Amino acid sequence: MSDSLFADAIQRLDLALKYVSISEDAIERLKFPKASLRVSVPVRMDDGSLRIFQGFRVRHDDTRGPTKGGIRYHPNVSLDEVKSLAFWMTFKCAALGIPFGGAKGGITLNPKELSRLELERLSRGYIDAIADFIGPDVDIPAPDVYTNPMIMGWMMDRYSTIRRQYTPAVVTGKPIELGGSLGRNTATATGAFAVINTMIPKFDRRPQDTTVAIQGFGNAGSVLAELLFHAGYKVVAISDSQGAVYDRTGLDIPSIRRYRESNKEMQAVYCQGSVCSIVERNRLTNAELLALDVDILIPAALENQITEANVNDIMAQFIFEVANGPITSSADRILEKKGIRVFPDILVNAGGVTVSYFEWVQNRSGWYWTAEEVDRRLQEKMIEETEKIWKMAQERSISMRSAAYVHALKRLGKSIDAKGTRNYFG
Ligand code: GLU
Repeated sequence: MSDSLFADAIQRLDLALKYVSISEDAIERLKFPKASLRVSVPVRMDDGSLRIFQGFRVRHDDTRGPTKGGIRYHPNVSLDEVKSLAFWMTFKCAALGIPFGGAKGGITLNPKELSRLELERLSRGYIDAIADFIGPDVDIPAPDVYTNPMIMGWMMDRYSTIRRQYTPAVVTGKPIELGGSLGRNTATATGAFAVINTMIPKFDRRPQDTTVAIQGFGNAGSVLAELLFHAGYKVVAISDSQGAVYDRTGLDIPSIRRYRESNKEMQAVYCQGSVCSIVERNRLTNAELLALDVDILIPAALENQITEANVNDIMAQFIFEVANGPITSSADRILEKKGIRVFPDILVNAGGVTVSYFEWVQNRSGWYWTAEEVDRRLQEKMIEETEKIWKMAQERSISMRSAAYVHALKRLGKSIDAKGTRNYFG
């Protein structure tokens, strides 16, 4: 299996290195994940047959705390992908000042092909396989692409059964009834919205004059589309894995979200009460959506969407990365030359892990916060770190991505140095 995504991910390190004094030993250490686990998970299918699924969990770096990161269920999951996602988690947590390292997990499958009971058996079997690799002080999973609170609940329950101890802090993003935090489900979108709202006025732009295209209508993309719609932004295009809908005058996002609760198809609709009518609108491919002449482009699906092959089609002025790793490093350099402002994943989508941290704190203290409390702390954190990264980007005339990495590396470097040689000999 090639390591191309991970090799691309660690290129960001060398870029940031120019601007931060951190020992070369520390950088070298960060180019290798601390530990990688590959497991086979046997699942008895509903028809009685046995299927073996391939699962992974990678802990990238735990210098700043227990490792943290989601679990992805997707046909493209590979060790290379999980390693890259774990690497980004280390930098995300450091950029936000959250006391966690980075990790990620995944199972290679198309979850849409499994029944609910098969999914439950798979999720519980995965925890059986990785139980010795995780723990509330070791490594803490969470949701990612195609996983959700229900799955996190099964995982926490299975881990608690294995340990014979109720252990809610081993997984975040759980259902509220099982120790989940209020606001966790919408946290990625809320955090991204806070970053957009902090940055866009700095460029003398008003929401009502700003058009947005969003690739991806999952948990992050769909909630963010609605937040932007209510704030007055013109969301002109959205897509799912099947394709996009487009309307130059702006789509009615709440209607589309409501329609999709009972219909699988992505349609431009307008709902009055419970009656929704499909409006004839332009249908686009995902590739066409990326090339739209809009002010803001938001990739909110998967990695490697903007590459050298399509980077010259991009017309947006601002890109906010809600997905992890949607732009390759070579495409990133071209965007920078063209003057397109890219706001990086490790900042923009960090709202999710921030509220995961709040959930872990609540689980460990047994003291549960109100939705207002969660939201206030999330806003505070996102705005504070966005401003710091922006200030650094301005002062050093570097991109927001480089500034975010420098900001994270400073925190990481201090922790690595504080531990001394143990990191290399211990
Ligand atoms: N999967 C999310 C991410 O990529 C959340 C991780 C977490 O909450 O631990 O940031």
